[in-house]
Amino acid sequence: MRRRLTLAEYKKGVLSGDRVVLSQAITLVESKLEEDAELASQLVQEILPSTGNSLRVGITGVPGVGKSTFIESFGNMLLENGKKLAVLAVDPSSQRNKGSILGDKTRMETLASNKKAFIRPSPAGNTLGGVAAKTREAMLLCEAAGFDVILIETVGVGQSETAVKGMVDFFLLLVLAGAGDELQGIKKGIMEMADGILIHKADGENKSAAKKAISSYKSALHLFPPAANGWYPQVLTASSYTKEGIDEAWEMIMKFESQAKTSGYKEENRVSQRLNWLEENLQTLLGNRFYGDPEIQKQLDKSKEQVAKGEVSPLVLARELIGLFFRNANQL
Ligand code: GDP
Repeated sequence: MRRRLTLAEYKKGVLSGDRVVLSQAITLVESKLEEDAELASQLVQEILPSTGNSLRVGITGVPGVGKSTFIESFGNMLLENGKKLAVLAVDPSSQRNKGSILGDKTRMETLASNKKAFIRPSPAGNTLGGVAAKTREAMLLCEAAGFDVILIETVGVGQSETAVKGMVDFFLLLVLAGAGDELQGIKKGIMEMADGILIHKADGENKSAAKKAISSYKSALHLFPPAANGWYPQVLTASSYTKEGIDEAWEMIMKFESQAKTSGYKEENRVSQRLNWLEENLQTLLGNRFYGDPEIQKQLDKSKEQVAKGEVSPLVLARELIGLFFRNANQL
């Protein structure tokens, strides 16, 4: 059985950059056990003053676009530049393939063996909200442990992007150049979230198609209203094989960072992200209490039958269930 450390041991280990303790601390915040939840929230509170100093970058793109290969080459470039790098993933589907990042051993091999890098697969979770909340806490622990760049990969194609956008400073979308159909299959909402678009695999025969695709992506971006931060999302090409464009991707992120710091947007964004974090916690905690209540579960099953048959309005039943929940809670 896992020996639980004390709060002071977790804190000391994380703050001193002890990778073993950092892993254990992330396991603690990911735990679904009620007895771990209290310690986990105390730990996050304790390390909070040591967070906030890293650059947080979200990386997304459809499966096969080359995210893990890109993270490997981009990550190695950062390490060569003296950065300490943590890589986390948000993948609500990871239950199916048992952890996304390290599930496949060939992914990010060189990064995984470098002492200056820390790679953590996605926590298993039933709900996106749960997985995202844990990733945010894991990110804070990594920051407190002294990692200066945190890459958060989203493997999902959809809602997980919104969750990651809500916890990072810069959101990078990886795409491929296709034969005139490059914009197909990319959800408009995801393009709109991007601070930068990287046309990936720009090597060999793909190279000229990738260069040509720049203008299509640029004109697609022009259809969106300008972002609140005054930044115009950039479109670049890169290859993780030849490493062409990898440095430029970092330069783009640094330019964004410096502009966001000067304009005050960085802090503004982080303030609103912290407020969202509170909202998310309230919703998750309320949801857990509500759906975890045995009497509610019983009534909910009945209500579902009635709704399925079209006998009673869902609104009436929802109000009744909520009323029941709070009456029970008041009697505790
Ligand atoms: P992910 O699913 O987005 O993480 O994609 P992977 O990193 O697993 O890559 C998918 C496939 O694309 C693999 O076969 C890679 O070898 C290939 N690939 C990744 N990066 C590049 C690149 O820069 N150029 C080319 N030509 N192929 C790449």
